[in-house]
Amino acid sequence: MLIVQKFGGTSVGDLERIANVANRVSESKKAGNDVVVVVSAMSGETNKLVEYAQHFSSNPNKAEMDMLLSSGERVTASLLSIALNEMGFPTVAMTGRKAGIVTNTQHTKARIEEINPKAIVSALDDGKIIVVAGFQGVNENGDITTLGRGGSDLSAVAIAGALKADLCEIYTDVSGIYTTDPRIEPRAKKLDKISYDEMLELASLGAKVLQNRSVEMAKKLNVNLVTRTSFSNEEGTLITKEENIMEAPLVSGIALDRNQARISLMGVKDRPGIASDIFNKLAINDINIDMIIQTKAYDGSTSIDFTVPVSDIKDAKEVVDSFIKTGEIKDDSYNEEICKVSVVGVGMKSHAGVAALAFSTMADNNININMISTSEIKVSMIIDEKYAELAVRGLHGAYELDK
Ligand code: ASP
Ligand code: MG
Repeated sequence: MLIVQKFGGTSVGDLERIANVANRVSESKKAGNDVVVVVSAMSGETNKLVEYAQHFSSNPNKAEMDMLLSSGERVTASLLSIALNEMGFPTVAMTGRKAGIVTNTQHTKARIEEINPKAIVSALDDGKIIVVAGFQGVNENGDITTLGRGGSDLSAVAIAGALKADLCEIYTDVSGIYTTDPRIEPRAKKLDKISYDEMLELASLGAKVLQNRSVEMAKKLNVNLVTRTSFSNEEGTLITKEENIMEAPLVSGIALDRNQARISLMGVKDRPGIASDIFNKLAINDINIDMIIQTKAYDGSTSIDFTVPVSDIKDAKEVVDSFIKTGEIKDDSYNEEICKVSVVGVGMKSHAGVAALAFSTMADNNININMISTSEIKVSMIIDEKYAELAVRGLHGAYELDK
């Protein structure tokens, strides 16, 4: 098999852990696999480099930032390569450039445009283990770029896709994807398998284990992803296409997003184009809208309620104020004390009554639902934040995820 193994910051957090990673990589190689390793910087290193830069400037040049930040990954890639060599395994350490990762020119959050894995392929042919510095690439001008924070997951998935690897293993300090946050519901169970789409819903809804962009890329390139821990031999969770999951459960997980706020607009002038005007202006200002509800009031005006990330409230208020000034919105209110709970599962595509069970679970727990939205594989509800944990536990039990 050809395996790409990515080790995150905590897995390479000190020299002892790098030695542990070297052992693990060597085991995969000894088992007869071709192995490409992608590493993050030692945990805390990238933040430290950001702070160093901020000592001199609150707005440092982005090209220089990329040169600076990419160095953390080079340290771990070289050290791991040296360790493996010493153990008798021929290796090559590569920067993003050598690994053929070509990006656009957007410094500090560059997008991968193509991968030319020539150097990797020929080193693999020579029987070597490749150790790639994650999180970085090179643009058309030959400048170093980085892929955005957490971007070494993306490096690993992109390389796995380009090499058509059999497996891309992402090692962190968490043992896999759980049916819900185990800190809220200790009965949460680790999932063996989950589809890309479910993972995307669970991630964007707050169950952060993997960078969302890398799941999207895995889906696009058809890369079988496994998330697992480097601290034990425990099996992880496979993230794969839906067809590979024979018996999909009705519901795979319950996600919680506390980072939502609700904005209510009252007395909105009822004319064609008003929603377009408001939401276009919000979009231009980079404000991420999630749920939207519009209802008609008795006086002929309308009410529009929508949710945004808490961090976007201030910008959203400025946009809203501009419509209040023109008289097209009469009144507004903002509520940060809400959260979104979501029931996610591909199995619900072919089953009736999944949403009804979510609503009756809220009713049984005396929790009022503020807003509802559904998709083929998800039911989301906005509720008061103080009921977040009660709701998650109630839903987890109702769909028998602890069984
Ligand atoms: N070291 C980078 C970061 O901290 C990239 C990564 O860890 O994936 O964001
Ligand atoms: Mg990381």
